Amino acid sequence: MRTAMRNQSYDVVVVGGGTAGLSAALVLGRSRRRVLVVDAGEPRNAPAAHMQGYLSRDGMPPAEFLAEGRRELERYGVEVVRDRVSAVTPDGAGEFGIALAAGGDVHARRVVMATGLVDEVPGLPGLADRWGRDVLHCPYCHGWEVRDQPFGVLAGEPFNSHQALLVTQWSKDVTLFLHTVRDLPDAEWERLAAAGVQVVDGEVAGLVVEDDRLTGVRLADGRVFPRSVLFVAAKPVPRDGLLTALGAELRDTPVGPYPAVDETGRTSVPGVWAVGNAAGPTEQVINAASAGYRAGLTINAELVMADIDAEVSRRRAGVFTPETEAAVAWVTTRKHAHGARG
Ligand SMILES: Cc1cc2nc3c(=O)[nH]c(=O)nc-3n(C[C@H](O)[C@H](O)[C@H](O)COP(=O)(O)OP(=O)(O)OC[C@H]3O[C@@H](n4cnc5c(N)ncnc54)[C@H](O)[C@@H]3O)c2cc1C
Repeated sequence: MRTAMRNQSYDVVVVGGGTAGLSAALVLGRSRRRVLVVDAGEPRNAPAAHMQGYLSRDGMPPAEFLAEGRRELERYGVEVVRDRVSAVTPDGAGEFGIALAAGGDVHARRVVMATGLVDEVPGLPGLADRWGRDVLHCPYCHGWEVRDQPFGVLAGEPFNSHQALLVTQWSKDVTLFLHTVRDLPDAEWERLAAAGVQVVDGEVAGLVVEDDRLTGVRLADGRVFPRSVLFVAAKPVPRDGLLTALGAELRDTPVGPYPAVDETGRTSVPGVWAVGNAAGPTEQVINAASAGYRAGLTINAELVMADIDAEVSRRRAGVFTPETEAAVAWVTTRKHAHGARG
């Protein structure tokens, strides 16, 4: 990757070069668009050794997957730079100035926000260090690899037994640590009992780690429970600062506000799309790729129509360019041909 050419103009600037951003860039590059991807290089699944569940790429290291994506973009002249977008500013004519943290600005007709999200892991000592290794959030990402091992589940506030119940599909040895949760509704006790989940009362103080592997969960009262995996409910917070600065509308989700988008990723800010985890907390890699693709083809179609409509307006206003002269000649010929046939 290199640094961006300063003061350049692009059809589309993609902010974020994870799966969603690269996928949008691929379809735009193949549509012969001038595209810049600016990527700060912190994809969400970076802590994980492998990426699971992406048909045909199941088990591939996440960094290798993205490197392969960047190689594919080279065929179509898409530029990818390692930098951070620090501001996106409307230029007053429906387009955007994009400020890069390393200095300098570029211009874009359309912007794709593919900035992902940040997982806010519970603040227990040692938890963040083991995130994505044996402290996990997503059984679809890691469940098969840790199947049948002794699982712990850390209860969060507000309490929702869903995670503890769900992971029983991958191991029958599941212990729920109530931690700061004081009591449960009767219906939750019933379901946990039916699923065979052990419930431990008392605050969790930290993890026991030996030879760089989780071996137990330690409570504040000194008790240690041997566990080799701990599921936690991290809070997924969208990296939406650039969008909210533009005044983008947000929508409520069960985990907090996320940018409001239509089915193509279009936000409430004309000319700006949001895709992947920047637009929704549940997007897995394959969904992020799909969302980027859909946004890319929508943006290309919109630019095609915008250019044609601008040309029509120029012609109506009697402003002629070599292109309009050629277009007028073509339409006139077609009219005559029709007339001749009619
Ligand atoms: C530990 C873990 C393991 C996971 N495992 C799996 C799995 O096995 N299978 C699966 O399908 N999903 C998995 N996921 C989910 C997966 O990480 C996401 O679905 C995926 O990363 C979403 O892609 P994205 O492009 O939306 O965001 P990201 O991949 O997070 O990419 C966003 C990019 O934008 C960049 N960025 C942010 N702000 C700026 C800015 N201002 N300027 C420039 N660049 C910026 C970031 O640095 C980053 O590179 C896992 C998640 C975690 C936490």
